[in-house]
Amino acid sequence: MVMIQGAPVADATRAGGRAVTDAPRPRDPGGAAPAGVGPVPETVEVPDPLIKIRTVDLFYGASQALKGISLDIPRCQVTAFIGPSGCGKSTLLRCLNRMNDLIEGVTIKGSIHIGDLDIYAPGVDPTALRKRVGMVFQKSNPFPKSIFENVAYGPRIHGMNNRKELADIVEKSLTRAGLWEEAKDRLDHSALELSGGQQQRLCIARALAVDPEVLLMDEPCSALDPVSTARIEELLFDLKKRYAIVIVTHNMQQAGRVSDYTAFLLEGNLVEFNATERMFTKPSLKKTEDYITGRFG
Ligand code: ADP
Repeated sequence: MVMIQGAPVADATRAGGRAVTDAPRPRDPGGAAPAGVGPVPETVEVPDPLIKIRTVDLFYGASQALKGISLDIPRCQVTAFIGPSGCGKSTLLRCLNRMNDLIEGVTIKGSIHIGDLDIYAPGVDPTALRKRVGMVFQKSNPFPKSIFENVAYGPRIHGMNNRKELADIVEKSLTRAGLWEEAKDRLDHSALELSGGQQQRLCIARALAVDPEVLLMDEPCSALDPVSTARIEELLFDLKKRYAIVIVTHNMQQAGRVSDYTAFLLEGNLVEFNATERMFTKPSLKKTEDYITGRFG
């Protein structure tokens, strides 16, 4: 059972992508910060936010996993969530498509808007939301069906049955996921015949087939070899031209290579949110520097 308590979304003041480290947002516009919450984080204003996360607290039963998180996620960029294991990266990612709704005993407070949609407002259909916000998991999870049917699955459950239109979507999605050339001559073969890296790109194609605005990726390369990892990292540079991408990674080099913005979390708090280049060369906080340079975590 998920409970949500709304909080107003403050208008983000635009600063043309410039770091605004002296203007953090209020942690809780409605009152005092919850107990156990750390200092207000260092944050940067993003130039073209699509997602606005405001003062999000998340509890698994009585245990608080996210503490007053406020963050903007830009369009057409890659945003990375980094931090030590258990700091709340995946939990925060799952808030963005309401995947945590599926976990018993979860309580969420605060608000998340995607464009104009308050995604936790009463009446929002999580299935419709997940069409706008696709997700790729750590372990590729193709269905035991053909390559074609894996990609056509989403459009089919949203009511599309026209074979020609489905074929067009399958080709477009596989092309965007960088798998068309390898898959076009065996679309009717089982997806399980593909290699691990190809299966992960198939899962990306499957997510793209319903035409989302946002692509969430939870450690998408952690089970892959270096060559397959490089393929997916290259792909992100193309995909971000169309989609807002949010990636959880425990691999700091990967965050540095692929992301434009990075959010550093620690024990459920957002510690620093900054342009990746800045975060990795001149972080605002000593704690961030200590983590990035491997002094802990
Ligand atoms: P990360 O992705 O940074 O490794 P998680 O978001 O998975 O961190 O976990 C954050 C905290 O929430 C951890 O203390 C973890 O044990 C806890 N947690 C995650 N999932 C669940 C769950 N389904 N039930 C209870 N606690 C959970």
